[in-house]
Amino acid sequence: MKRALINLDYTYDFVAEDGKLTCGVPGQAIEEAIVSITESFLNAGDYVTFGIDAHEEGDALHPESALFPPHNIVGTKGMELYGSLQTLYEQHQHKDNLFYFEKTRYSAFAGTNLELKLRERHITEVHIVGVCTDICVLHTAVDAYNKGFDIVIHKQAVASFNPVGHEWALEHFERTLGAKIV
Ligand code: ZN
Repeated sequence: MKRALINLDYTYDFVAEDGKLTCGVPGQAIEEAIVSITESFLNAGDYVTFGIDAHEEGDALHPESALFPPHNIVGTKGMELYGSLQTLYEQHQHKDNLFYFEKTRYSAFAGTNLELKLRERHITEVHIVGVCTDICVLHTAVDAYNKGFDIVIHKQAVASFNPVGHEWALEHFERTLGAKIV
């Protein structure tokens, strides 16, 4: 079994107090856990991916434009990783086992080459951390399930602005997607 980490959307806009679409305190509370898990995967030589939401300014055709205020605009601080995750990323960004890519939709698999990268490396198990539990983590986990990957969700390293959605999603990962919750 080969494993990879999918690190989702832990950016300034989604986490910082004044982020454009922040999940607030629950998001800030997982900083240490997300950094320590990411660091341990990097140090073990496992494949670590950062799937980061990216929008063009004024993209009226993107479906999220009708749903949310502008966020994670390419080239802005909002799209940078939050806090010490940015520092960790900068230390490792040139290593072979780190893959940063821009996400087009909630799921990290939608319109990206993530699946090809995982298959090339014969990875069968994906570990997911980041925000929000009931939006991007959920959609990425559903796609991973449909593509036949084993799924591990790190409970201490996922968060949402919506506590009901967070709990619902954790139960869904375990009971419906067969994920391991650790
Ligand atoms: Zn978005």
